[in-house]
This record gives sequence, structure tokens and C-alpha cells, in this order.
Amino acid sequence: MDAIKLSPRLQAVAEFVPARARLVDIGSDHAYLPAHLLLNQHIAYAVAGEVAVGPFQNAQQTQEQFQFGPNLVTRLGDGFAVVQPEDQIDTAVIAGMGGQLINKILTAGLSETGAYEHLILQPNTDVHMVREWLQRHHYQLVDETILFDDGHYYEILVAQPGEVQYSPAELMFGPFNLKRRPAPWQQYWQRETNRLKNLLVQMQQAGQDANSAYQAYENQLNLIEEVLN
Ligand code: SAM
Repeated sequence: MDAIKLSPRLQAVAEFVPARARLVDIGSDHAYLPAHLLLNQHIAYAVAGEVAVGPFQNAQQTQEQFQFGPNLVTRLGDGFAVVQPEDQIDTAVIAGMGGQLINKILTAGLSETGAYEHLILQPNTDVHMVREWLQRHHYQLVDETILFDDGHYYEILVAQPGEVQYSPAELMFGPFNLKRRPAPWQQYWQRETNRLKNLLVQMQQAGQDANSAYQAYENQLNLIEEVLN
């Protein structure tokens, strides 16, 4: 039975969850992601974690509606504090938040609970900072994607324990994206190019083209154009 239709963004996240995973979904809100995966018998067990009472109640409602029994546990708490050793979680999803918040949750969580075999992260912003975090904390990317959904570009990072050293371009653009050059990735960076060009023109007109911010934007634009071309 597939009674929960996920948004294209969340569906793309779901597709990276390994079969038979024991999943924690941090910031689960309605718990649609774990519920969808359980309804499709794709995962064995899930903890839906929420720090806020309203979204936690949404997750509880989903649990009540579909009666997953012990296979879906909803818990109120900050980040990975909702995970208990007996959950035997091997896969963590953190989706729909800013990259800096994801990094904060990961930093606090991994010191509390140790490493997870699979991390599936969907930062809405500062994606390069999440790639940096992974590299620094002994995770390597094993896949990534980017999609356009409801007016926004979303990146998804999939990581497993491993040592890696990414170049500045790989951190910014994504090592897999650089090789595969998918259409939404090209469109995203083309849009970024246009935004930076407009910004530089505005700064020139305002007489700000000698300051360090102008230089930084110009360097960024040059890097993007180099990579796109
Ligand atoms: N993960 C769902 C998705 O991708 O559609 C919901 C995303 S929603 C925009 C972000 C959720 O993360 C909110 O419900 C918020 O309460 C929750 N959240 C934010 N910080 C959190 C934290 N430190 N621990 C657990 N949940 C958190």
C-alpha cells in the first residue's frame, strides 16, 4: 500500500534510503518519510524525531492513522538525543533544514551516539559547509543529486564512513555533480552566475567595485564560469 505521496524532494531523499534500514528521521515533522518507507515495506524500523511540539504531534497523528505499531516510534527531542542504543539505527536522514543547523545536529549527535553507516542529508542552504563537515568527520560522499521542486533547487548528499580530501571546487559544486553535470545542477549554477553578474553591476554603479566584497563575488563568479565552461 502506498497511501502517502511524497513531494518530489522527499521522494528523492527516500530513494537513497537502503532497503531494510533502521532509520532515524531527524526533524521528521509529519513523519511522512518514514511512514511512506514503512508502507512500502522498504525499511524495517524508524524513529521519527522532532524538537518542536506541533510537528511532533503531526508525527504522532501519522502513527495513529497508519498503526505502524512498534515499527514507527515518534520521540520529542533535540537532534540525535531521540535515538536509543536498542533502536540499532544504521541510517540517519536530516532533510529540509539549513546546512548550518544540519552540521550542528550532526556534531552533537555523533559525539553522543557514534557513527552511522548511512547519512542522507538534504540541506536547503550552505551545502558546501555540509560537505566540509562530512570530510572533517571521516565521512565520504557516495552519491549526491540535485533537483528542482516547487520553485527551489534542492541538493541531497549521501555519505558513508570513509576518509576523503575534496578540492575547493568539489566542496562547492559536489564531486559527483562535477563528473555527471546534471541539468538541474547546470541550471542552478547558471542562475547563480546571473545573480552574481547583476550584483557586480549594482556594486559598480554604487562605486563599491574597489572593496573586498566585490573582489570576493568576482572570484566566485570566475570560479563558477570556469567550472560551467
Ligand atoms: N524533514 C521534513 C522534510 O524534509 O519535509 C520536515 C522539514 S521541516 C522544514 C524541519 C523540521 O525540523 C521542523 O519540523 C523542525 O521542528 C525540525 N527541527 C529543527 N531543528 C531540530 C532539531 N535540532 N532536532 C529535531 N528536529 C528539529
